[in-house]
Amino acid sequence: MKKPIISFEFFPPKNPEGVEKLRATRQQLAQLNPEFFSVTFGAGGSTRDRTLETVIEIQQDGHKAAPHLSCIGSTKDNIRAILDEYKSHGIRHIVALRGDMPSGMACPGEFRYANELVEFIRAETGDWFNIEVAAYPEYHPQAPTAQADLLNFKHKVEAGADAAITQYFYNADAYFHFVDECEAMGITIPIVPGIMPIGNFSQLARFSDACGAEIPRWLRLKLQGYGDDSASIRAFGLDVVTDLCEQLLKRGAPGLHFYTLNQAGPVSAIWQRLGL
Ligand code: FAD
Repeated sequence: MKKPIISFEFFPPKNPEGVEKLRATRQQLAQLNPEFFSVTFGAGGSTRDRTLETVIEIQQDGHKAAPHLSCIGSTKDNIRAILDEYKSHGIRHIVALRGDMPSGMACPGEFRYANELVEFIRAETGDWFNIEVAAYPEYHPQAPTAQADLLNFKHKVEAGADAAITQYFYNADAYFHFVDECEAMGITIPIVPGIMPIGNFSQLARFSDACGAEIPRWLRLKLQGYGDDSASIRAFGLDVVTDLCEQLLKRGAPGLHFYTLNQAGPVSAIWQRLGL
């Protein structure tokens, strides 16, 4: 088996305590030798400076860092300035997204979809950036049909994406079906599954409702059944997610991208169980 591409996602911390906590998390996860750490970008550019600061710190520590960049609500000048800043700091990896319109913001700006952002990054910076895009094995919640979403994904790839990271899911078959459909359409870039460890049921249910990731009925009922027993939720979640990762790697997924929520514990536990 080829060495899996492993990456860890963080969000930019909001305050000095968060910065310290993330430093400790990163140091712990760095021992697992990931390919890169990615850092999210708040809707409408709300975390622009904090994303940049976090990415620079990761880079200065000797690790590869990939900032996320969302384009909705932004102008070309704005995006150009951000790309220039990343280039000047030697950042060569980026996760290019449309993002979601922040509430209260009315104007979509100069980009409508992520494929336009990918095209713009390529036109402005050539091959400088390794570009990742988002993929949705259970389809994007706003897509009118599965087929339309696949075609839109293909446009993003054709615009110049090098690889994709998926929305999280708990159903390995959905991922492999999606990958098969992509292959049938001539899409050959690596599509790395996004993995969300399970630690807190109500938070997971909230995320999943917002982003359209399904929590299968058996899993939802089982987690709900634990009520406030967070130790049992974590233990059961660890079994479920480890099993999912095992299946994904065994059946040929090119790697795993972990949504860490800035915590090292759950990912480290999955890692140990996987014996990677
Ligand atoms: P797109 O690829 O543009 O797709 C959005 C919708 O538009 C889909 O329904 C698609 O079918 C449709 N569409 C696409 N192109 C066209 C077209 N040309 N014509 C008509 N319809 C089209 N959000 C953040 O705010 N910050 C982050 O850091 C962040 N990181 C993420 C990382 C990953 C790995 C993933 C999976 C998601 C992330 N998101 C983030 C969430 C993401 O911004 C949302 O899911 C958003 O709704 C869609 O972004 P996208 O880049 O997938 O959009």
